[in-house]
Amino acid sequence: MIYKCVDCGKEVNIELKSAKKIICPSCGYRILKKVRPNKSMKVMVR
Ligand SMILES: [Zn+2]
Repeated sequence: MIYKCVDCGKEVNIELKSAKKIICPSCGYRILKKVRPNKSMKVMVR
């Protein structure tokens, strides 16, 4: 699971086992947003 720090924008890969203590290793911020790995996925596909 990839999380992105809201404060400094650093992407952190956190496993579900250690998801209880999600913290940014760069700045120590504790609020991180989930980032989906498939960045190239588009909604409108025919
Ligand atoms: Zn950070």
